This record gives sequence, C-alpha cells and structure tokens, in this order.
Amino acid sequence: MKKNLLDFSAHELNLFMKEHGVAAFRGTQIRKWLYQGVDSFDEMTDISKDLRAWLSEYFTTGALKIKRLLKSSDGTCKFLFDLGDGNYIESVLMKYSYGYSACISSQIGCKMGCKFCASTGAGFVRNLTIGEMIGQIITMNKHRGIRIGHVVIMGVGEPMDNYDNVVGFLREAQAPDGLGISFRHLALSTCGVVPGIRKLSEEKMPITLAISLHSPFDDERSELMPVNNAYPIEKVMDACREYQADGGRRITFEYAMIKGINDDKEHARALANLVKDLQCHVNLIPMNDVPGTPFKKSDSVTVEVFTRTLERMGVEVTTRRELGKDISAACGQLRRSATEESGNAN
Ligand code: SAH
Repeated sequence: MKKNLLDFSAHELNLFMKEHGVAAFRGTQIRKWLYQGVDSFDEMTDISKDLRAWLSEYFTTGALKIKRLLKSSDGTCKFLFDLGDGNYIESVLMKYSYGYSACISSQIGCKMGCKFCASTGAGFVRNLTIGEMIGQIITMNKHRGIRIGHVVIMGVGEPMDNYDNVVGFLREAQAPDGLGISFRHLALSTCGVVPGIRKLSEEKMPITLAISLHSPFDDERSELMPVNNAYPIEKVMDACREYQADGGRRITFEYAMIKGINDDKEHARALANLVKDLQCHVNLIPMNDVPGTPFKKSDSVTVEVFTRTLERMGVEVTTRRELGKDISAACGQLRRSATEESGNAN
C-alpha cells in the first residue's frame, strides 16, 4: 500500500527526504504542491523526473477521488470521497457570509452508538489518518477553486476516539505552511468523551469545543447516547469547566430537537440550569430524519418556545440553519447509501 504524503508534517517530510538522499528543501517544494491538491506527481514541475517517478511508485499525493458530488439549491455541496480501499467518507462544504466552511469526517463509521445517528447504523471500520482529513479539505478547495477558511470536525465519527490523528490534523490545519487556518476557525464536536476533553485542554489549542448534549437528564441521555453511561452529564460539565478555565474558548452545546422527547419547557429549564455558569451558547439542531429510527424533528412553534425559555434564563441560543436539506447533508447518510449500493457489508 502506498504511503500518503499528507500524513507527514513539514518537518517530517524534509527529514524523510534527507534520509533518502534527497535535499531537504525538496520536501518543502513537494508539500506546496500537495497542499494545492495535485493528484499526480507529474504536476510537480519544479522537481526532477526521477524524483517524481520515485514518489509515484511509493506514495500518493493525498488528493481524494470524488465518487459523488451533490449540490444543494442553497449552495451547500456534499462530497462522497472514495478512499481507494473500498471505503467512502463524506464531507460537506457550506458557504456563509464570512466564507467557506467545511464539515469533515474523522472516522469511517462510528462506535458511539447514538440512537438517532446515521453514522452509527453503518458500523465502524477504521480511523482516518491525518492525511485523509487534510485531503478532504484540499480536494474540496481544488475542485471548487476556493479556500476553505473554517473547519468543523463534525461529520462521521467521534474525534476523541481518533485523538492523536485529530490533534495532528488540527496542527497541520493551523500550520502556516499547511492549511493556514487559525485555531479560532477550527472546531471539534464530541459526544462527551471526558478523557479526550481533558487531554485537549492540555494541548493549548484555542479551538472551539462543541459538545453534543441532546438531553439534560442522565437517564434519558443514556438512552439516546450510550456514551453517557461511561461519562454522565456532570462529568462532562466538569471537563467543560476545566477546558474553559484552561484558556479554552466559549463552548458550544449542540442540542438536536427531537419531537416529543427532549423539546418541552422542562427540558429547556433543566438545560439552562446546567449550562448557565459556563461561557457558552446552545446550538439547536433540527433533527434530521434517519430512515429506520423513530425520531422526528420538533415543530417550529415548539422550537420557538424552547428558544425563548432558554433566552429568558440568560442562555445564548442559535438555531442551526438547515443547509443542504435537499441533498440529505446530515452526516452518515450518503456514505450509508453508497456502501449499500456497492454491496459492502459495512
Ligand atoms: N461524534 C461527534 C461528531 C459527529 S456528529 C459528536 O457526537 O458530536 C455531529 C452532530 O450531529 C452531533 O451533535 C450529533 O449528535 C448530531 N446528529 C447526529 N445524527 C443526527 C440527526 N439525525 N439529526 C440531527 N443531528 C444529528
């Protein structure tokens, strides 16, 4: 199996070149091309033919093959990438007034088992490497002729379950000779894996931490999200308080509004009490229907009442815009259909 050159940091690539008798600065030249999303070493016109031939024998440039691309009427694009080993991953590209933002996957599938999530239904296969995460961004940049300025690790997978690669990705994403995106424009969403949150505090990366909460009550949250059995709400909140005290930024709590389950005033009040001592905001997510699950999205009046209740209790609330509605941009759905089509058991 060929090695992905995007898995190397700048330093590692230069060192690797040197160790193989190639001048270290060639590594810098090569990396520039890689980050432009070239899919063939032949495009690297400022390095010798011999070096290009050696590289293409043993390595890949890390640009991903686009298996399918769906475009929404609101400008949102959903990419299905073919990783070349029979696996597919998804990324979503959104256009906002401040520029382009990408939502990327961190794993092929997920082990967390959240009852309402399409990623879990399709099973867990493996972690993504640093290069496969970077590859999602540079392939979208190249294909659309844009520069993505914000990234959220909020696609398929639990980032804390692939901690080292995710942190490696964040470093390469921030590196001026990498993607050059400031930590402030990078975000990670976790279902609440406490040791991961604690470790992330120590990295001193001022990224935005998002926590998928979805219920303020332990028994109910455990039903929806089995991870709550290992890390109950109070433990997650303690880790969030530490993250913030450690110089972390404002925390986002994601809350999917599920009809008749977590969307009444009692939930809103309990949620407000839970988060009000933190510098945070609550992001209400309209539930996406996932075939085979009984969960439905709350109606708009219920969402409105829920929002007002939170606001009256001093909590900052936003409701996520439903981008890409017509292309089922919710995580996991496209991969699931592609895997079913190709007859893969995963
Ligand atoms: N594993 C991470 C990130 C991936 S999911 C996490 O749990 O945070 C990104 C967000 O989408 C999470 O808040 C997740 O709970 C939510 N989500 C998953 N399935 C959903 C669905 N069907 N409708 C709405 N939100 C969903």
